Parts: sequence; C-alpha cells; structure tokens
Amino acid sequence: MKTVVYADHAATSPLDEKALEAMLPFLKGAFGNASQVYSLGRSARKAIEDARQKIAECINANPSEIYFTSGGTESNNWILKSASALHMNIVSSAIEHPSIRQVVTRLSNTKCAEIPVEPSGSIDLSALKMQMQTNSSSGRQSLISVMRANNETGILQPIESIVEIAHVYQARVHTDAVQAIGHIPVDMHALDVDYLSASAHKFNGPKGIGFLAIRQGAPILSLLNGGAQEASLRAGTENVASIVGMAVALQNNIQSLETNAKHLRKLEEICFQIWQDNAIPYTLNGKGNRIPGVLSVGFNQGNGEGLMHQLDLMGCCISTGSACNQVKTQISHVLTAMQVPPNVAQSTIRISFGKENTQDDAIKLASSIVKALKLGRK
Ligand code: PLP
Repeated sequence: MKTVVYADHAATSPLDEKALEAMLPFLKGAFGNASQVYSLGRSARKAIEDARQKIAECINANPSEIYFTSGGTESNNWILKSASALHMNIVSSAIEHPSIRQVVTRLSNTKCAEIPVEPSGSIDLSALKMQMQTNSSSGRQSLISVMRANNETGILQPIESIVEIAHVYQARVHTDAVQAIGHIPVDMHALDVDYLSASAHKFNGPKGIGFLAIRQGAPILSLLNGGAQEASLRAGTENVASIVGMAVALQNNIQSLETNAKHLRKLEEICFQIWQDNAIPYTLNGKGNRIPGVLSVGFNQGNGEGLMHQLDLMGCCISTGSACNQVKTQISHVLTAMQVPPNVAQSTIRISFGKENTQDDAIKLASSIVKALKLGRK
C-alpha cells in the first residue's frame, strides 16, 4: 500500500515507466558515443535524432530547432547570456524563476528591466508596453523573457499578447515553458516565440536533461565549445539515455493531456470541498488560467513552512510559498510581486498534483491539512 502522498510535481515528477524502459538499453549494451561512425555510435545517433523528431512534433517545431541541454536552468542561462553578448536589452518579469532573475542581475553590461505583475499573477501588459517604448530609443534590439506558466501559482502568462507587443518593436521573445510543457498544449509556432525552455523532470522524464528550442534564423551564440554536438552550439558528448527518456515521457504526457487535466482538476475540487466542509478558510493565490493540479493556497493562519513540516510527518509532500529563519518569514518573490497580503503569503503552501495521484491521495492530503490547521488553532 502506498503510504506517502507526493504532491510536489512542480518541483520534480516521478519517471514515467515507459521512459525508463526506453532508456535502459542505452545505459547497458547500447552505450556508444553518438559522434562515432561505427554501428554502436550510429545507433546512438539515430536514437538522438529520433528523440529530437518526437520532441519537435510534440511542440510543433522543426527538429533542427531543438537543442538538448541539461535542463531548464541551463536553457534559461543560455538564452539570456547569448542575448547579452549580442548587445540586446533584456526585459523579464518579477515572477520569473531564479534561473532567469539571478542571471539578469549579473549581466552588468546589459540594460535589464523587470516588469511587475498584477495581483492576479499575470504580467502588467501596459508596463511592458511602456518599457518597450523606452527601450526603442536605445537603438538596440530587446529580448522579452516571460514564463509560460509560473512555478508557484501555475498561472499562465499571456504570451500571445506579449508577442504582439514584441512585434511592434521588432523584439525577440523567449518563454520559459518548463512548467507548461507536458501539462498543457504548447505549440511553439502558434505561440510565435523565438526561444522556448523545457526540462524533462517536470513532465515525468529523467532529471538533468531538457532543451532550448530556437526558432530557425533567431540569433544565438554558442553556449559550450569543444565539439560539433548540437550544431556546435552546445558541445559535449550527448546523454543519449536521458534524451531518449525525455522524448518518450513527453510523448506519453501529451497523448493524455486532456485526461490528465480532467483528473487533476477533480483532485483540486476534492481539496476545496474538504476545506469547505470543515470550515477552513483558504485563499487561492492568483486568478485566471492555471496549470491543472497546481494550487498556491494560503490558509490565513500560521506559516506555510510549519504546515509543510507537519504534513511531512503525516506522510504528505508539498512545498511552501514562504520560508522561515530565526529572524523572520521570507515571502517568495512571486507572492511579493502579486502583493498577496502578509497573513495569506506567510501561510501559503504549494500543492502540485501529478497524473499518478489518486482521489484517495487528494482526500488524505486535504484532510491532513484540516487536521494540522485545527491542531494549530488549539
Ligand atoms: N524554470 C521554471 C519555471 C522552473 O520551475 C524550474 C525548476 O523548478 C526551472 C526553470 C529550472 O529547471 P531545471 O530544474 O531543469 O534546471
């Protein structure tokens, strides 16, 4: 019997069985280096190119537009550092993942701007327009980097409107789609973005592998030099097994996107119902379209970190929206940017269900939260 309820899929997700099966041959007999021309090398090369083709189909891109990386952090670093070296101005949002925000603060020779978000959790489009207007006088091209879905709230960003604004100023657009791919339809060409980051372990693939999709003709500088891999833009012997596993995991998730979404929405409803039945006041942070199964929820009392530890003892894994040290509670930059009231922000946890969670899991998690909060009130 399963004892632990794992509801932290936005942090990482379990490896898909079929992905594991597809990976195993490349960890055993088929260990060849894909750059070698003998048969063992050729079969590794074929596996990589087949995976590239599958991934491209999943996001409606061309296979030549997919560049394998070690994951979301690397893909995000790559595009920002390349844009900086190409003398572009960078415009991002206040709720980006640290692999965007921390890079931006370190690009000392680049003009970088951070756009605020509305309390709904969605980027302030009029502030973006104003920033682009300001940037247009610099004579430099801009790169706008805004995530497709936020990793704390699951709120989707209006990439189509962002691209429209970008087109007025001949700017390029990057989207960090790490939390979106494999959870909602992501069509690179319909979104009309130039660059898109993804990470396999967020969609039931292996850890340490991901990709940056780069639209044909979009400017990019090499990240790693020292070999011809990934069109000489990202050198280094390929991680064949993980690339193969990533493609299978993505294909599997995409084949059952709708079923998974329906299931995850049901798990959310179960939680809401249990909290309502037990008169537990809660606030869902953010408004608008959201990734299925991701809830940033504050309980208006106590602190999220304490609740996370209590739930851990009860056999439930979730994340927090705030972290405590001995001096004070640190509210996440996302909740701060959304101007979530302090009592809600401090008590916020993030629940992120995955396709393998059951209705019993949701019942156990939501009831454990009720129990923990009632104990806290005593
Ligand atoms: N971008 C977002 C939105 C994320 O949620 C994460 C991971 O949590 C990353 C980037 C980093 O991805 P990786 O763990 O593959 O480096």
